[in-house]
Amino acid sequence: MSKIITTFDQVDIPEDKTTLVLCDIDDTILRYPLSFKDFYKNEITSAKFMFMWTTSKAEKKIYMEEYIYDRYISYKAKTEPLHTDIDGFNNMIQKIYSRGGELKFLTSRSIGYKNFTRKQLEKIGINPDLYAFHYTYESGVKKSRYIWENIDKEKYQNIIFIDDREDELELVRQDHPEISTYRFTY
Ligand SMILES: [Mg+2]
Repeated sequence: MSKIITTFDQVDIPEDKTTLVLCDIDDTILRYPLSFKDFYKNEITSAKFMFMWTTSKAEKKIYMEEYIYDRYISYKAKTEPLHTDIDGFNNMIQKIYSRGGELKFLTSRSIGYKNFTRKQLEKIGINPDLYAFHYTYESGVKKSRYIWENIDKEKYQNIIFIDDREDELELVRQDHPEISTYRFTY
């Protein structure tokens, strides 16, 4: 299991090592006023109504999920994001950089969202010019595999991976036992 954290202050950045932090974006540093779960709850009645005509229960579920998911995407496109923990994040950044390390964002977003992502980070108080970004969507692989192929692990004495998704964390733990993993929740 990964260590579960609710603030970035809980991430251990050793003083005597150069640390690379690979940090997820969605639901790790950036969130929306409504989580997908809350949004889903709000939409379920209208979605049920929309797909009333579907007789197959399984089919109805698929249609409803797709419908709500699409609506959540447009909700996110027009809603201002929030930082999950700006103070903790800034403290962590200060520790990483004062000890010679660096933070790279590792997101499963598409590179097509590059400018949108940069704008969103600015809105939540993060200067995107200070960090490297890795967008994994086009690679079609999970983050663990992406790390194998794109991150030069030898350059760092210590590597940390922070994400909100247990499936991603689990694979990183399996494939890169030397990487410390943290699951962020808010
Ligand atoms: Mg995430």
